[in-house]
Amino acid sequence: METATINAIHTYDVAAIRKDFPILNREVKGHPLVYFDNAATSQKPQSVIDALVHYYSFNNANVHRGIHSLAEEATADFEATRDAVKDFINAASREEIIYTRGTTEGINLVAYTWARQNLKQGDEVIISGMEHHSNIVPWQIICEQNNAKLKVIPVNDKGELLMDEYSALLNDRTKLVAVNHVSNAMGTVNPVKEIIQLAHDKGAVVLIDGAQSAMHLDIDVQDLDCDFFAFSSHKLLGPTGMGILYGKKDLLNAMPVFAGGGEMIKEVTFEKTTYNELPYKFEAGTPNIADAIALKPAIDYINKVGKDNIRKHEDLLLNHATERLRAIDGLQIIGNNDHKVSVLSFVISGVHPQDVGILLDNKGIAVRTGHHCAEPLMNRFCVPGTIRASFALYNTIEEVDKLAEGLIKAVKILR
Ligand code: PMP
Repeated sequence: METATINAIHTYDVAAIRKDFPILNREVKGHPLVYFDNAATSQKPQSVIDALVHYYSFNNANVHRGIHSLAEEATADFEATRDAVKDFINAASREEIIYTRGTTEGINLVAYTWARQNLKQGDEVIISGMEHHSNIVPWQIICEQNNAKLKVIPVNDKGELLMDEYSALLNDRTKLVAVNHVSNAMGTVNPVKEIIQLAHDKGAVVLIDGAQSAMHLDIDVQDLDCDFFAFSSHKLLGPTGMGILYGKKDLLNAMPVFAGGGEMIKEVTFEKTTYNELPYKFEAGTPNIADAIALKPAIDYINKVGKDNIRKHEDLLLNHATERLRAIDGLQIIGNNDHKVSVLSFVISGVHPQDVGILLDNKGIAVRTGHHCAEPLMNRFCVPGTIRASFALYNTIEEVDKLAEGLIKAVKILR
């Protein structure tokens, strides 16, 4: 399709955006790549790739402890990301921004510090029926260790949380509520503000898993009033191995430390160790310097395009895909509700998701098939897994049409 035609359909200059992502020029099995696995990880713009190369080729040094120029430059770039993240999620202070390896580590950090200290026998933790395994398993482990109880908010047939049931689960024993902002398996946007408010009314602390929302929705942790918010750099155009845990300062200060080692200490003697200030108290050892530095250009890129524009564009793709795919005989969308972003998950009667995935890959179309690390949700819908197409700011309507046509052909072959 001509650039002018592509842009006429879209809300912004998607052709120009595509030029910033070098991987989109490649072919897969003789076809131009159509990348619809964005919920698993997004592609990276040249500015992010350049930041990685620049750090290793120009100012590679360890951060914080050096007085030489390279160490100072690396530290400045490393810390600049913290300020960018603070603004990106509207945190009250940079001390509330903890660098992690990703959402999984952020959630585990809270489980092994706050929850291990605060959950007593008979206390309750509430999660939802649409959580990723990373927001299930850490709570199971800690509840087992502390003799606390794990409760689950049920999901309706449309893929929404049953809020009345949630209200009924809350009581004075509820100490923590941990839910995702957006479901990775269905794209459902959960009413987290209401969830947080209801939990706070019972005195419970709330962790929001923002792995799937940080790229698509405006995040304002002060407005949400969440106590913790975890997300991953690699799902928002940044590098892998880097993530953020936001926590309210008072909670973070009162929490025990997580990993011990260099950087997280103030003074060490064999008799006693005192710990560093926030955020370094939770950042033991040499951090992931390059990937932290390269998260800033990713955030800058998102800010430049604008979350509103990204959302409008992705909604256009999602609506078009929903319309086209609904017309396919035997196709059932999992997560059929009005509050969704960027994800279309579906099954097709008589064909296995994995076989469809392989046939689409033969046409250069990358989708994800399987349980999406949300096995309890798959059980809820009585499916072994789904086919998931997830959209990003650089995808086009033309690519959605290729997916629809690829699916029609795949069904013909497989049935
Ligand atoms: N929660 C959700 C909702 C996710 O989609 C993911 C990643 N698929 C995670 C948590 C875990 O993120 P990571 O693997 O980057 O730690």
